[in-house]
Amino acid sequence: MTTGSAYTSGGGWEDKIRTIPDFPKPGVNFKDITPLLGDRATFAQVVEGIASLYGDGQVDKVCGIEARGFILAAPVAYRLGVGFVPIRKHGKLPFTAEAASYELEYSQAILEIHSDAIQPGERVLIVDDVLATGGTARAAADLVERLGGVVSGIVCLIELEFLNGRSQLEGLNLQTFIRY
Ligand code: AMP
Repeated sequence: MTTGSAYTSGGGWEDKIRTIPDFPKPGVNFKDITPLLGDRATFAQVVEGIASLYGDGQVDKVCGIEARGFILAAPVAYRLGVGFVPIRKHGKLPFTAEAASYELEYSQAILEIHSDAIQPGERVLIVDDVLATGGTARAAADLVERLGGVVSGIVCLIELEFLNGRSQLEGLNLQTFIRY
């Protein structure tokens, strides 16, 4: 099932997201969440908002996607009382890892997860800051499933709807808070 979020930001979260034109390259409108992270009330609301979608006992692990996904996923994991698992870019993880490649606009990228990070049957929440084309979230979900985990949901703070990343995640429970 693919749904929007029942939790509304109550206004104000958008004001703390800055759009930087042509970063990191021409044509990209980069969504900079550092003002949101730096505002203690808004940061807390966002963490609580994500955690509130998954009540106590509903997930066993929270995965964050490098790098900004880590910042949101780690406090959500702490809040839910479960472990945090990093999904990292190629070559960063020190132990045996599973890898999944995915398409970027003009190239390919690889995401990796430690092969012992998730036990078969564990219910996993995946968290990232922005859903754009959906390739990153799709690769993360594939890695979790390859280890035998069950993807309970994917939460991205921001969804760039015009890129239709949702279409890559059919059958998965995707929730986003702010849509452009
Ligand atoms: P995609 O695989 O196209 O869905 O890209 C999502 C990943 O790239 C996320 O991990 C984001 O952090 C990053 N990303 C893509 N587009 C943007 C954007 N416009 N602003 C900020 N981050 C972005």
